[in-house]
Amino acid sequence: MGSDFTYHRYMSATPDPADRPASTAEIRDPQHDPTASYAMDQAFARRLTALVRTTGRDGKLTSSPINLAPLATIPQSNVEDVDAAFGRARKAQADWARTPVAERERMLMRYHDLVMERRDEIADLIVLESGKARKDAFAEVMHVAFTSRYYARKSSEFLGTERRAGVLPLLTRVDVNHVPKGVVGIISPWNYPFTMAMSDGLPALMAGNAVVAKPDAQTMLTALFGVLLLEEAGFPKDLWQVVAGPGSVIGTEIIQRADYICFTGSTATGKRIAAQCADRLIGCSLELGGKNPMLILRDANVDRAAEGAVRATYSNAGQLCVSMERLFVADQVYDKFVERFVERTKAMVVGDPAQWSTDMGCLISQDQLDTVTAHVEDAVSKGARVLAGGRARPDLGPYFFEPTILEGVTPEMTCFGNETFGPVISIYRFHDENEAVDRANDGPYGLNASVFSQDGDRARDVARRIKCGTVNVNEAYAASFASIDSPMGGMRESGTGRRQGHEGILRYTEVQTVATQRGMGLKPLPGMNEQQWAKVLVLNEKIMRKLGRA
Ligand code: NAD
Repeated sequence: MGSDFTYHRYMSATPDPADRPASTAEIRDPQHDPTASYAMDQAFARRLTALVRTTGRDGKLTSSPINLAPLATIPQSNVEDVDAAFGRARKAQADWARTPVAERERMLMRYHDLVMERRDEIADLIVLESGKARKDAFAEVMHVAFTSRYYARKSSEFLGTERRAGVLPLLTRVDVNHVPKGVVGIISPWNYPFTMAMSDGLPALMAGNAVVAKPDAQTMLTALFGVLLLEEAGFPKDLWQVVAGPGSVIGTEIIQRADYICFTGSTATGKRIAAQCADRLIGCSLELGGKNPMLILRDANVDRAAEGAVRATYSNAGQLCVSMERLFVADQVYDKFVERFVERTKAMVVGDPAQWSTDMGCLISQDQLDTVTAHVEDAVSKGARVLAGGRARPDLGPYFFEPTILEGVTPEMTCFGNETFGPVISIYRFHDENEAVDRANDGPYGLNASVFSQDGDRARDVARRIKCGTVNVNEAYAASFASIDSPMGGMRESGTGRRQGHEGILRYTEVQTVATQRGMGLKPLPGMNEQQWAKVLVLNEKIMRKLGRA
């Protein structure tokens, strides 16, 4: 299995800062500048970009955040293209809804096998396009594989018609069907460009829907690779449409036409989308931001907790919705824990994202770098102490930032309650577990939390009191996120709805009740007046109550 693009030729050496453009504005476009060249094989890039629904000539040059090397020109969609995408998707969906679920499952398992076969190639592209470390790219490839295997095995069970109790035992039969919504719009972010683009849509397909997707502009190629593999797995051609363009324009057009919206991104955008969906009375699931807390209880294994905190904070350079940004540590273990955590953080390998040995790659963009830098500078200027990191690393590439621990963060500082979405954590001491739970619940978010303790029952009791959609005990986020049978999503301003589990597929269905009445109807028996019938109903009610029936 050869790689279709030239990742290693271009990227194998750590880029020399002197050779790269100073900013995206200075990137030389190979389409107009014969001295410039792409970092990616253009035949392969064209196979991917051909999947974007577009009629226009507009294109947007993308570059790798690792060193701003040009990658490809992404065609842009306009309103008519979104219309065309929905037209094709609706047509394909009508046939697809008649395809037996078992056949859909077989296709999804083929998709799983293709993802597994081409895992290195996919990870290469993710690294190139997002700048994340290879281990993080690999994790998202595996997440798509887990999700595919799960729904390939479980969709029939989840979508099967359910029998429910009828009002008159034996005479009223009630069937509950799960019928597809129709066309699902999926708007996804750049931070996990493969799994965020694909994993929510796969159960939508299994439920009999078509998809119109708008991946983030910064990571279109990775998302398109996922769609190319759908075609290779045998899914009908028009079933998954991709459109490209600014979220506020193309995203809005999708919301105007879809039967359901699955959105992953920031809370600010999520609120706007919720309002637009409300206006059309369509459902939506919103997977939004967080300011996730980690609690190290007094009986935690300090080494295990320090190792967990490193993964919790710096995986994907902290650009992970479920990663930790607030760390509450019990007084009894504070000093020892901080020493170990700082030691491990300082020992991290930050650099060439392509290497398996790299712990942390770079941030996605100048915007992300600016936010992270501003949060740290603001905190330091107001008195926070930097225990590790704290600086950008332009010597490594344009968007590298050191893994950073802050102590002494106070409510006036921006990073106290606002999501940084970078490799920065604030560490706080606590004396009492109830106080720690209150502080963890402070603020508007409720996505993910983590509790470290050697007493599982105590940790689970604390977990139950934390207002987050997922809580991981003695693990950062991976235990819940990678357990596809478990629902995942946010409470409060971190979102509504859940991905994964049966919740993750049933959200894409309408629940339909078909009630069949046999024999006598719900009306007086022949020769009976309404008053006598009322007596029969009362008698029936008393019997049901006595029998303990619901
Ligand atoms: P974002 O909200 O800016 O963008 C996300 C997507 O929405 C992109 O595709 C964008 O083009 C589109 N978009 C932007 N404005 C839109 C609009 N008005 N209408 C329709 N679509 C629009 O978020 P981001 O900065 O790209 O992603 C980072 C955020 O996503 C963080 O807050 C992070 O916590 C969150 N996130 C959450 C999860 C989760 O599962 N809860 C997962 C990943 C990321």
